Amino acid sequence: MTAPDWFEAGLPHIWLPYTQMHTASPPLAAVATDGCRIRLADGRELIDGIASWWTACHGYNHPYIRQAATQQLARMPHVMFGGLVHEPALRLAHRLAGLLPGDLERVFFTDSGSVAVEVAIKMAIQYWLNRGENRRTRLVAFRGGYHGDTLATMAVCDPEEGMHSLFSGVLPTHLIADLPRDDASRAALDALLVTEGETVAAILVEPLVQGAGGMVFHDPATLRHLRALADRHGILLVFDEIFTGFGRTGTFFACQQAGVVPDIVTLSKALSGGTVPLAATVARRHVYEAFLSDNPLHALMHGPTFMANPLACACANASLDLFAREPRLEQVAAIGAQMHTELESCRHLPGVRDVRVMGAIGVVELERIEDMNRLKARLVDQGVWIRPFRTIVYLTPSFTIAPSELAHLTRAIRTVLSDPA
Ligand SMILES: *Cc1c(COP(=O)(O)O)cnc(C)c1O
Repeated sequence: MTAPDWFEAGLPHIWLPYTQMHTASPPLAAVATDGCRIRLADGRELIDGIASWWTACHGYNHPYIRQAATQQLARMPHVMFGGLVHEPALRLAHRLAGLLPGDLERVFFTDSGSVAVEVAIKMAIQYWLNRGENRRTRLVAFRGGYHGDTLATMAVCDPEEGMHSLFSGVLPTHLIADLPRDDASRAALDALLVTEGETVAAILVEPLVQGAGGMVFHDPATLRHLRALADRHGILLVFDEIFTGFGRTGTFFACQQAGVVPDIVTLSKALSGGTVPLAATVARRHVYEAFLSDNPLHALMHGPTFMANPLACACANASLDLFAREPRLEQVAAIGAQMHTELESCRHLPGVRDVRVMGAIGVVELERIEDMNRLKARLVDQGVWIRPFRTIVYLTPSFTIAPSELAHLTRAIRTVLSDPA
């Protein structure tokens, strides 16, 4: 079957993400989505194991979100957020404040996760500047972390994966530490803060799961330790819940498992139910109050053109309705239990280093992946859309996935790893 004309004509003009264009296999042409399935131009259908980079929490094309989007599209697809506000954004802000713990109650909308983290960084630094403390300009972030691809966020990612050396000279330098998950790393972080603490604006962490950095889990005690450290040194604590938010780890937000209220939270990925780009940076009252003064330069200095896009906010409100009406957290627990049972059988396969599950995240970690292109192609041959990276083969399906579809996904992983040929 020949490829569609738009594919042949457009491919020479497209630059793909994280892709060595010289050697990568050509991308697949997607023409439609439905539920947990992606249909390709050649007629094949793939079961999606990763919900389009963790966004499509209710599956694709949910009729309820479509209805909300259609109505908003007819009424007001976009209006600027400078000097104007609208119902979808204000309803959404009110609801997010109600869902987040403590007094995390002031919402700044943006349109991508990276920018939400950029805003959190600016917010944290300006918080101190507004209070007359101009030495606190650095962040403490962690090895294995991932917070985005823009210049400011790259600088707080894992130093190797974040390409700190490739871009050294243009990236600001922050303090990158090991997550305090044992006595040695706790002592090291304590010592770092004793010497450098007065130059630190905030500690930044992905709570419970470092996602794009390798799907590495840590326990709630680590987050409580970070809260205590931040309090002892008078530093802000920022949780990047862009991956973990909206049920992925088993609770609505990961911070709830630790009983910790961070000072700033970032949200995106599943925020709009996998439909339209949207992100948010949410601050506690005391953070917000540091920006209130007679000095115009004490205002938060940021403002994306498409900020609080009404269409995106309407989709996010519809997504939150679905979380309220449908048993999403029970579905997450069931997905976790099924993945736990079915992926466990991969543990004894050759080259498997670890199998782990948290919430609706299932991970098979390998010693190494020799031929990534080939592994990806073999998964597609099994009728599944699974995107291994580094040494990780993982599942983060939609919460609405049917047990039979999930079984297809875990079977595909087992089949492909059983026969490394
Ligand atoms: C995906 C992700 C980001 C970046 O979001 P983009 O929308 O891709 O810019 C930041 N932090 C975490 C934890 C993420 O998973």
